[in-house]
Amino acid sequence: MPPTPPPSSASRAMRSNRSANTKPELALRQELFRRGLRYRVGYRISLLERAVRPDIVFTRRKVAVFVDGCFWHGCPIHCRMPSDPSGYWHQKIDRNRKRDLAVDEMLRAAGWTIFRVWEHEPANEAAGAIHAALNQEVST
Ligand SMILES: [Zn+2]
Repeated sequence: MPPTPPPSSASRAMRSNRSANTKPELALRQELFRRGLRYRVGYRISLLERAVRPDIVFTRRKVAVFVDGCFWHGCPIHCRMPSDPSGYWHQKIDRNRKRDLAVDEMLRAAGWTIFRVWEHEPANEAAGAIHAALNQEVST
């Protein structure tokens, strides 16, 4: 499936939604660090279509980690859409989700491995999964 570039208005709106250094993000960084993993924060990946700034990046291994807010990214457990007659939130969250998918596609096409961690996921579990993936790549 070819990646669909998101409309520029959607990505601009998204940038203001994604706040850096949220609590779940800090917790995950701490867990990764504790496991001896070293990563980049605020690293900008320039892709053909656009630039992407994942929350945590392992540059040499080409692993990008996003910590997604349950509401903004439409978590299946916590994102209960408010009943809004204008449909504003529905549209906005739907746009965000589509944008997330498009970004994932673009990164994968450029050879990146992507982890999307919900903000509700325990940091140690997420860090464990990322750690395991990084180890696996070493041995192959
Ligand atoms: Zn959630």
